[in-house]
Amino acid sequence: MVNKGKIVIIGTSNVGSAILNKITDFQLASEIVLIDINTAKAKGEALDASHATSCIYSTNINVHVGTYKDCHDAGIIIITAGPSIKPGETPDRLILAKTNVKVMHSIMSEITKYTKEAMIIAITNPLDVATYYISTHFDYPREKIVGTGTMLETFRLRRILANHYHVDPKNIHGYILGEHGNSAFTAWSTVNIAGMPLSHLDDCFNFSQRIDCKAIEDEVVQVAYDIINLKGWTNTGIAMVACRLIKAVLYDEHTILPLSAVLEGEYGLRDIALSIPRMLCGEGVVKSFEVKLTDAERDLLLRSAESVKKASACCRDL
Ligand code: NAD
Repeated sequence: MVNKGKIVIIGTSNVGSAILNKITDFQLASEIVLIDINTAKAKGEALDASHATSCIYSTNINVHVGTYKDCHDAGIIIITAGPSIKPGETPDRLILAKTNVKVMHSIMSEITKYTKEAMIIAITNPLDVATYYISTHFDYPREKIVGTGTMLETFRLRRILANHYHVDPKNIHGYILGEHGNSAFTAWSTVNIAGMPLSHLDDCFNFSQRIDCKAIEDEVVQVAYDIINLKGWTNTGIAMVACRLIKAVLYDEHTILPLSAVLEGEYGLRDIALSIPRMLCGEGVVKSFEVKLTDAERDLLLRSAESVKKASACCRDL
C-alpha cells in the first residue's frame, strides 16, 4: 500500500539536498529516503537533515538513506540525478541530453521493479527530454509522471514583473510555456496583474515608459545561467517549485500549473514533452489545457517543440 507521506529523492547534490531541506522545513513528509550513486553524499545529507528534526520547529520526520526497494510504497519520487550545466559551459540545457538520458534509463529501470503507483516528479535537465524519455520508454502510468517544466521560468517572470511594477509576485498571473530552457517563451496574452491585461498595466501603474517585453523575456531565460556563473548551480528556486508540486499532490489540489508531460495532440503536437497549463492533483496530471494563444505565440510553441524534438531524437538509440 502506498504511504502518501513517504518521499524518495534520487540525486542528493545541490538540487536534491535543497529539496530535502525545504520538504523538512515545510513539513511535507513523514519519511524521506535519499538515493545517490555517491552514497557518502546521500548519507551525509541524511544524517544532517535527520539530526535537525530534533528542533522544536520540526516534525518527527524519518530521514534516511535507502535503496530502490524503498520506492515500493513511496507516495512521491523526485528525480534530480545527473549533472547540471557548469559555470562557463555552453548555456543550453540540451547539451546534457545524452548523458542524462542514460541516467534516466538506469534510474527508471530500477524504480519500475518496485512501483507503478508513486507520483514521479522529474527535475533533471534537459527537463523535457528527460520527462519524454521516462514517460515513453517504460511501462509506467503517464499521468503519474510530471516534469517541473516552465514553472521555474514562470516564477522568475512573476518576480521580474513584480519588481518592475512594485507589486506582490503572487498578484501576477500568466505563463511561460514550451521548453524548460532557451526556447521557453512568455505567453504575454495570458499575463495579467489582478485582472489587468498587459496592454493596461503601464497606464494602471502610472508608468510613462512602455514595458520592454523582449528585455524581460530575455532576462527570464538568462537568469538561470547568471545564477550558475555566480554561485555555481541553481537550487533554491527549483526546490520551491518541487515543494509546490508535492503540496498539490498531497492535498489533492487540482491546481493548474505550467508543467511538462507528453503532449497528446494539444496544439497539433504529440510525441514530445513540453510545458502547457496542466491540472495536478493526488492522482497526478488529470487534465491539460490548450489555452488560447496568439498566432505569434503558437509559432513560438512550435519552434520550441522543434528544438526539444531534435534533442530527444538523438537519444532514441541509447
Ligand atoms: P550535480 O551534478 O551537483 O548532482 C547530480 C547528482 O546526481 C550527484 O550527486 C550524482 O552523484 C547523482 N547521480 C548521477 N547519476 C546518478 C544515478 N545514476 N543514480 C543516482 N544518482 C546519480 O547536479 P545538481 O546541481 O544537483 O542538479 C541536478 C539536476 O537538476 C541537473 O540535471 C540540473 O540541470 C537539474 N536542474 C533542473 C532544474 C529545473 O527547473 N528542472 C533546476 C535546477 C537544476
